[in-house]
Amino acid sequence: MPVRVRSQAAFERSSQLIPGGVNSPARAFGAVGGQPLFIARSEGPYLFDLDGNRYLDYIGSWGPLILGHAHPRVVAAVEQAVRQGASFGAPTERESELADRIIAGVPSIEMVRMVSSGTEATMSAVRVARGYTGRDVVVKFAGCYHGHVDCLLVQAGSAATTLGVPNSPGIPKGCTADTLSLPYGDPQALADAFARRGDEIAGVILEPVAGNMGLVVPSAEFLCELRRLTHHHGSVLIYDEVMTGFRLAFGGAQELLGQMPDMTVLGKIVGGGFPVGAYGGRADIMMKVMPAGPVFQAGTLSGNPVAMAAGIATLDELRRLDPYAELDHLGGSLQAGLLALTKELGVPAVVNRCGSMWTLFFTPTPVTGYESAKTADTARFGRFFWAMMDRGFYLPCSQFEAAFCSVLHTEERIRETLVAAREALKAV
Ligand SMILES: *Cc1c(COP(=O)(O)O)cnc(C)c1O
Repeated sequence: MPVRVRSQAAFERSSQLIPGGVNSPARAFGAVGGQPLFIARSEGPYLFDLDGNRYLDYIGSWGPLILGHAHPRVVAAVEQAVRQGASFGAPTERESELADRIIAGVPSIEMVRMVSSGTEATMSAVRVARGYTGRDVVVKFAGCYHGHVDCLLVQAGSAATTLGVPNSPGIPKGCTADTLSLPYGDPQALADAFARRGDEIAGVILEPVAGNMGLVVPSAEFLCELRRLTHHHGSVLIYDEVMTGFRLAFGGAQELLGQMPDMTVLGKIVGGGFPVGAYGGRADIMMKVMPAGPVFQAGTLSGNPVAMAAGIATLDELRRLDPYAELDHLGGSLQAGLLALTKELGVPAVVNRCGSMWTLFFTPTPVTGYESAKTADTARFGRFFWAMMDRGFYLPCSQFEAAFCSVLHTEERIRETLVAAREALKAV
């Protein structure tokens, strides 16, 4: 058992100072029982905690670090940028350089606006969709997460279409009154909602491959129906590719699936580990954004030069490496290995995967949406999580979060992971 006394002391201290001891709830280990590790530093595919324990990292800061930690080219670009000044509140060429790379890479984006987080980007995209259409209703899907935007923090309805009920205290009912939450991946529920309210629907937002209920890949039929209905009713289709952008392919899920939205939301990888979000899409829609158009959206640190430098260096390295076939291959090895182990050991489980994103669900039921995801045995997941942690493998601390491989998760490291997973699965 690794010693974790320094992490424990650090958590005791932070808990006195910061609510729950963390600055984002996903980092607390509540869902798996226990206390979070405090990280001292990182290197390539590894994290090192305060006590000096090393972990092979399957989170990568929850998605951004597809190149691994402290990539030398990203570090050099950031160092150079910060020497020139951290922020100017005036335009810089770096903003166009990153915008250029996004527009060239993400097939449906013609113009793009930079912000400072994925939350800010989804919030802004919804505002623009509403401003562009002059309509109020927004459709989202159960189990999809779009940041902590008031109108998108809506609890899943069961099988039925439900009017939005806020997920959190502090969100007035009015904020979610125009939010429709539908079951993910269900073409019939979608068709019913459009039949009833199609002409009121400003936009539909979804994760085109979902990572925030664990990894779930929707059917082609669902995505086709979504594109057909939004087009037919003049609603803006918004792909939230904060997680999938530059992850499943350089051009994100839309490139992989060959299905184009009207707007796309980006974050995570596009900032290379720095606080960046972006939203973009068809030029006629994006030209509604102030000061080109009337829809207000602004940010003191938007397009921050240091963050832009990290994003540019990350995207350039991804272009140079073109790692997506290799990442898919590594993900496939891990998926096949985990499936074989669970079968051999008689552990009821499914392994969902798309490219380098994956989730081992402890359930015999195929996981195709939020309801089926919730059939997973979270207590068993918690035991598995700690058994892997004790062996030096850092997995997401919730059954309902996707794990990620980076370009540094070699076949050898996948093999080591599977050796540990065999022991961990035996123990749970
Ligand atoms: C992480 C995430 C967000 C929120 O991004 P933040 O930078 O945490 O605000 C939004 N949508 C999806 C799909 C995400 O994975």
